[in-house]
Order: sequence, then structure tokens, then C-alpha cells
Amino acid sequence: MSDPKPVALPLLVLPVREQRYSCHGCGNCCRDFTVQLRPADLEKLLAQNWETKLGMPVTTEFRGTTYLRQREDGACVFLMDDGLCRIHKEHGFAEKPIACQLFPFVLVPDDRKTHVGISFACQSVRENKGAELRSHLEEAHRMSLGVPETRLATAPPSLADAMSAKEGELDALAQLLDRHLARDDLVIRDRFDGLAWIAASLGRAKLADVRARRFRELVQVLVGALPDELEHLPLEGALPKQLRLLRQAVFARLEDVQVNEAKSRGRVRTVLAQLLASRAFTRGKGRAPAVARGLLGGVEFAAIARIPTLSESPDRDAIDQLLARYARATILGGRAWGAGYYGWPAVRGLQALVLNIACTAWLARALAAARGHEHATIDDARDALGRIDRHAGRAPWLGSVTERLRLEFFRLDDGLRRITRESV
Ligand code: SF4
Repeated sequence: MSDPKPVALPLLVLPVREQRYSCHGCGNCCRDFTVQLRPADLEKLLAQNWETKLGMPVTTEFRGTTYLRQREDGACVFLMDDGLCRIHKEHGFAEKPIACQLFPFVLVPDDRKTHVGISFACQSVRENKGAELRSHLEEAHRMSLGVPETRLATAPPSLADAMSAKEGELDALAQLLDRHLARDDLVIRDRFDGLAWIAASLGRAKLADVRARRFRELVQVLVGALPDELEHLPLEGALPKQLRLLRQAVFARLEDVQVNEAKSRGRVRTVLAQLLASRAFTRGKGRAPAVARGLLGGVEFAAIARIPTLSESPDRDAIDQLLARYARATILGGRAWGAGYYGWPAVRGLQALVLNIACTAWLARALAAARGHEHATIDDARDALGRIDRHAGRAPWLGSVTERLRLEFFRLDDGLRRITRESV
């Protein structure tokens, strides 16, 4: 007798009512991402007969994986001058590779449901333009059929290292943190300082002694203590070694070797160029190297350090809303831990979220300096968030041992709180 067919998990569309999205056809994702193809995508492309129509191959192989081919400037070969996709135009949306259809949605299964999260690498998501997210449920269901593994139950995510979460613990954590992050009576710096404090406190707690209902009570106490508790725990600025590590973390999030570039440069030269750029970020002196397609435009590190924090920006309210939506969407959309973030336990995933927010704030200030602004504007913050969220949960190096060690280091001397307050 054959095994019974596994039951597809129910879909849960990101329950953040303040977040909206519809594609506005800016074409940025087609310029920005390298699209990995599945066998079903290759069959479709073959049937669409592109090689004959375009007179060139439309896929490329790199280290054993097949990708959509890119032009010299890194854009997808199917991107037309009007910013639209040629496959979409000639064959319809559902005939595009599944990764292109899905973006910016991210399907993350756990043991009971598949979260439909959303990526802030999309311009419309960052600008909060379009329809309510729940209106995309049917579309998400159809697309999930093209990635059936996202509808299969995984092992329950862990709460901390070697400690599986008990039923209700992660839901309680997510809901209580969401309530804290949605508090518009607190400025964003205090909300994120509070998140950093909770993440660090949970990292230090002996969670084995507080399970199920007691875990919920612990998080309730921590959240309830904010923001007053922070006043009793004042901090000086970030230490030089913490700032060094923050710049390294930003660099790791900007690393972006295009398939074209890596193929033409060769492995050794690519690795060497990355090493030199990484060293320049660690030193934090002189001009920032040309990373992420010249994003920082050779700006001086000293000029970045002179840009005030995001909380001092005239665009502070808009930046507050953007970053609060991002943090809430990441947690409630299943992208902060478990299958949505390198299989990491919730406590480490939260620490990584705080680091991603600190990196966003640093990068927003760097973009402001590169663009000659006196303060980080909402556009600087949006662009920075787009870059930082682009790799989150996807790039293998951000789920590596090096990244884990970085987070361990930030646990010392209140590192996460200090870098948060320093930039946000
Ligand atoms: S970045 Fe977002 S809005 Fe722009 S084309 Fe891609 S999905 Fe559409």
C-alpha cells in the first residue's frame, strides 16, 4: 500500500493590516535578482521557444544551478524597455518562472501552517502601495502549487538552541512582540531598543525552566516593562569594536556577486575583490569601496558617521512607520526564525532581526551621506531597507557560523542595544 498523500498546510497571509502591496511594474526586481530556475520553469521556457525567437540562450549554468540569463548590466534578458516582462506580455503571468511570480511573497512552512510573508526588497511593499494583503490569498494558493514543498509541515521551530518550541510559545512571542512594535506612543528608537533588550534577555534566560504558560508570562513581563525598564539601563554609545562589527555585518548584507560578473572575473579574482572590500568596511576609514553596483558611490566613512540617527531625521515619522511595518511583517510573516530564517531558533532569529534593523539604519545614513543629504530621508531609509531585506533568509552566508559568531559577540556589552541606539 502506498503512503497516504501528505495534507497541504493551510496558508496564513501576513496579518499586518497596515501593510499593502500590488505590483506597480517598476521592474526593479528584474534588474536586481538572479533568478534560479526549477525543472518546471525550464520546461515552460523551452515550450515558449525563446532561443529561436531571441537568437540566444535564455538560461545560464553556474556551479551546477540553472539561472535566467542576465544582460551585461545585470538585468533579466526578458526585461523590456518599458519595464515589463516579455514572458508575461506574450504568455501571461502564470507562465513566468515560479520565483518571478511569487516575488515579493515568501512562503514559509512550519509544523501547522504556511506563512505568506512579504519581502521589503519590493518597492511597492516599501512604499506600502496597493491592495490589502489578504486580497492576495487566492493568488498565493495558486502559486504555492508550483512550490509544493512550501505546503508540507516541517519540524516545529526551535525556541532556543536544542529546544523545540511547545505549542503556543512562538505564537505568544510573535503576538506580544507585535503589540510592542505597533505602539505608536513610543518613538521607533525606543521600540527597537526594547526589542533588542528582549532579544538579549531571552538569550540569557534559562528557558528550560519557563515553558508553555510560564514562557508566555515571561515575555509578557518583559514587554510590559518597556519602555520604563530602559530608563534604568542607560547606555553609552556603541564601542569601536561593535561599530566595526556592524560595518562588517552591513558589508555581508551588501555582497552581491552577479553570475555574469563571477563567470567573467573568475573565482579567485572575485574572492579577492570581496576580501579587499570587506577589509575596507572593517577599517571604516577613507572611502567606502564600490559594492552593490556602486550604491555608496565612494563616500567617506567619516561623512557617514556625521549623519544624525534616523530618530533625528525630519522624515522620522515616515521612517518610524516603515521600520515598524518591516519588523512586524518579518515576525508575523514567519521570516524571523525557523524555515523563514535559516532554520534558526526564535531567540537567535530575533537577535538577527535587530541586527538587520541596525544595518538598515547604518546604510540609510550611508546613502544620505553619498547623496549629499544632511539627514537620512525616507527614500534613503526605503532604499537601505530594500538592500538589507533582499538577502535576508536567502543568502547562505547570512545563515553561516560567522554570522552566528557575530551575534554572539553582540550579546556582550549590550552590543545589540548599543548599535541600535547608535543608528536608529
Ligand atoms: S519590485 Fe515589486 S513593484 Fe517593482 S516590479 Fe518587482 S514586484 Fe512589481
